[in-house]
Amino acid sequence: MRIELLLGDITDLDVDCIVNAARPSLMGGGGVDGAIHKKAGNELAEFCKSLGGCKVGEAKLSSGFNLKSKNIIHTVGPRYLFKKQKEEDDLASCYYQSLLIAKERKFYTLVFPNISTGAYGYPKDLASKIAFNTTSKFLLENDFPRKVIFCCFDTENMELYLEIFKSQLL
Ligand code: ADP
Repeated sequence: MRIELLLGDITDLDVDCIVNAARPSLMGGGGVDGAIHKKAGNELAEFCKSLGGCKVGEAKLSSGFNLKSKNIIHTVGPRYLFKKQKEEDDLASCYYQSLLIAKERKFYTLVFPNISTGAYGYPKDLASKIAFNTTSKFLLENDFPRKVIFCCFDTENMELYLEIFKSQLL
């Protein structure tokens, strides 16, 4: 099984790469973005200045600085505003573009938070399906990353992912 589930804090994980649900400025913010910047240290924001921001659906790589994770992929999720196809495409693109970087860098393990499901208001059930479908398709077609972990921070997300996992076993 190349997809795993975890309930916990993504900033604690000792892996090749974690994904940050970042703001377009890449200068940090609230939620998981704030937690990552706090623990990675000021050097992260210093480095991010050189990246020139990030558009919705795109992804950019940095080192993990003071985190245990060696690398961080910063991706900007869509705000759930107009309930349009574009928002779905943008969220899928966050997962796809992050997976593509992990493939190019031959990262063994990549860990995603539940992008857009906090301050950006994306419905958790829809977001979990997009995350799972985009990732499972990518893993079928590519050897790297070897493993993807969905790191949930709240039990509601964890239960939604568990439901998807169960339905895949039938
Ligand atoms: P967004 O703006 O993309 O919605 P948020 O950070 O507000 O970003 O929320 C995205 C998800 O990250 C939410 O499901 C939230 O519960 C989760 N989250 C917040 N802090 C952490 C953390 N330290 N580790 C893992 N997930 C977290």
